[in-house]
Amino acid sequence: MARYTGPVCRLCRREDMKLFLKGDRCYTDKCGFERRAYPPGQHGQNRRRKNSDYGEQLREKQKVKRMYGIAERQFRGYYYRANRMKGVTGENLLQLLERRLDNIVYRLGFASNHAEARQLVRHGHFSINGARVNIPSYLVRANDAISVRESSKKMPRLAENLGAVDRRGVPQWLELDKDNFRGRIKAMPAREDLKMEIREQLIVELYSK
Ligand code: SF4
Repeated sequence: MARYTGPVCRLCRREDMKLFLKGDRCYTDKCGFERRAYPPGQHGQNRRRKNSDYGEQLREKQKVKRMYGIAERQFRGYYYRANRMKGVTGENLLQLLERRLDNIVYRLGFASNHAEARQLVRHGHFSINGARVNIPSYLVRANDAISVRESSKKMPRLAENLGAVDRRGVPQWLELDKDNFRGRIKAMPAREDLKMEIREQLIVELYSK
């Protein structure tokens, strides 16, 4: 899968908001967006921000893709799946994205950003209901228990990440047992549980053209 490997602070500046792609640094005054809150590129400071309707929809889609670190093809697949589900398509889409295992690992604080979460999952450090799972796109369900595998609990990076989790907090639909390196999905996330600034309706409008 093609993956963006360039400087991630550019992505925040392009989307005109903090996407928290770098972990601890995002909370310090070294944050690239805090220092240069204008689009990247030679003419970034002169460029007008006004977009057409299509431009707004495209930016919203790009923003969410970048937030979760997902490629276009897979993201579009989530949209089609969300569209087939009962309920509001935009909310279904966000719920599917939130249910990804790499996102859960990030939200519970085992990783400092989505990229690290994906790598930890790929390397097989987590179990779901006792069974090892190393697929970042695995979709969790309500009442699933996620735990760090016994052999991975000694990793200093995990303890370090968990030590910093209070700063951003754990969403109320998840439960974290820091001492035992465990978490649980209390319920599927509702729209009001998702605090990020996302206008999901624009993404639906873009894909349903
Ligand atoms: Fe975005 Fe984090 Fe870079 Fe700030 S430090 S611009 S929030 S990735």
